[in-house]
Amino acid sequence: MKEVGYYNGVVGPLDQMTVPMGDRALYFGDGIYEATCVANRVPFALDDHLDRMYNSLRLLEIPFSMGREQVKEELQKVIDAAEEAPVQFLYWQVSRGVSPRNHAFPGGETAPSLMIFVKPYAMKSMDKPYKLISQEDNRFKLCNIKTLNLIPSVLASQRAAEQGCDESVFHRGSRVTECAHSNISILKEGVLRTAPTDELILPGITRKHLLALAREHGIPVEEKPYSMVELMNADEVIVTSSSALCMRVESVDGIPVGGKDPERLKLLQNAYWEKFQRETQPR
Ligand code: PLP
Repeated sequence: MKEVGYYNGVVGPLDQMTVPMGDRALYFGDGIYEATCVANRVPFALDDHLDRMYNSLRLLEIPFSMGREQVKEELQKVIDAAEEAPVQFLYWQVSRGVSPRNHAFPGGETAPSLMIFVKPYAMKSMDKPYKLISQEDNRFKLCNIKTLNLIPSVLASQRAAEQGCDESVFHRGSRVTECAHSNISILKEGVLRTAPTDELILPGITRKHLLALAREHGIPVEEKPYSMVELMNADEVIVTSSSALCMRVESVDGIPVGGKDPERLKLLQNAYWEKFQRETQPR
């Protein structure tokens, strides 16, 4: 099997898996998710993703009782059931469980559901820059939780795709928050600047690694809000996510941006790629 699915312990070909109609993920998006890339059957940065997963569960008060080691085992079961590919995409979500449709939480007898899939994935080349569109951030203020409620991001991604672009950068008024499914940072006069982790952005794992790599390489980091004007005038604009790592941005709304600090940008991209390769060595 190339594409493998899992639902509450049942493993099978992804296109044959089904979920019960009462799963609250279907009605309310009442759950959280995580995703990372896999190489050599090793999920990248798994502990970081599990830290964020348990934090999202805590913030949504989902009583998921499965321990960290057990979650790792279930994920590995799915990875091991799939034919190996150079890179795979690993996705998992936990919903509040299966119960008759009712907005308030179900009773304590309802156990959360764990769903997983893995499939081959062609990672984007960091040499091909992104084109962005910009739009007002119309999301709720729970963006720090990786919930399944993604409609504003779905619509923003569709608007970007319609314009032949790769991502959509959100701003609240003039303040840049993040992208539809990525974080966004800028390089200006040798400093890496990115929005702080508050309720307006997802604390991205790739963002966190990028900041750590910048510090390791002597690039100062500022976690401070910045504006669309600053983004448009940045030396480089960098979009980060688990599925694409660190992408350079070449335009926003058709206007060229960045391209003024290619050495620092390349240093960060190379450092990221080396980290990915090092940490997904066969075990
Ligand atoms: N911001 C949003 C809204 C996202 O959906 C994602 C990834 O899905 C990210 C940022 C990047 O997070 P990470 O680097 O952990 O993949």
